[in-house]
Amino acid sequence: MEVSNDESPEEIRLKELRSRMVKEQIKSRGIRDKRVLEAMLEIPRHRFVLPEFIDRAYDDTPLPILEGQTISQPYMVAWMTELLDLHGDEKVLEIGTGSGYQAAILSKLARSVYTIERIEALSNLARRVLEELVIQNVEVVTGDGSAGLPEHAPYDGIIVTAGAPEVPPCLVEQLSEGARLVIPVGPSTIQMLTVVEKQKGKPIVSEEGSCVFVPLVGKYGWKERRQAS
Ligand code: SAM
Repeated sequence: MEVSNDESPEEIRLKELRSRMVKEQIKSRGIRDKRVLEAMLEIPRHRFVLPEFIDRAYDDTPLPILEGQTISQPYMVAWMTELLDLHGDEKVLEIGTGSGYQAAILSKLARSVYTIERIEALSNLARRVLEELVIQNVEVVTGDGSAGLPEHAPYDGIIVTAGAPEVPPCLVEQLSEGARLVIPVGPSTIQMLTVVEKQKGKPIVSEEGSCVFVPLVGKYGWKERRQAS
């Protein structure tokens, strides 16, 4: 790991924790995409957590953020990102901005990123952190992403970081040919990480493994009264 002279001891300590996170939690579980591993090494996850959780920013766990939401487990971020199969020139949509961390990872792997969050306080905070990190190819939008973001469609990849009761057909419509939608689907207690690839206009669905996310709340997600506690 390279260490530049102008880094504080605290920054160096956090960088070492990040490097260990990539080795022990992500590479060791089979993530192979070099670009994903580099992005996870580069993006300072500790900037996206609440101040009281900075010391746990590189732990193998999701963490609470404001408004009862979460920043996902680092491995889950890496796994979902690898499943998107990005090469660098894509326009990507993330649904569920939360802290902005996943969007920051995507910013290193795609040409441009739209990210949509239904809770304004979260989208405002995420926008601020992304600006502080001089990440300029991410646009943060406030709104119900269960309907996607049709004004900027089609997308070369869509990632949903909240659990949906089913795959919203409008999200498949917003994929370009050959692009993938990565989305947790199932009951609020546990979901199946699902990939929908658009091939000759038709959705090809594969199930990758189980996961647990906070609910996707909105017109094509869970209604407020149907969501988990
Ligand atoms: N990707 C985030 C990160 O890197 O911190 C973690 C996302 S958190 C697990 C899920 C987020 O999805 C929450 O912030 C929640 O408010 C948001 N969400 C839920 N339903 C939504 C919807 N219909 N549209 C946009 N955001 C939604």
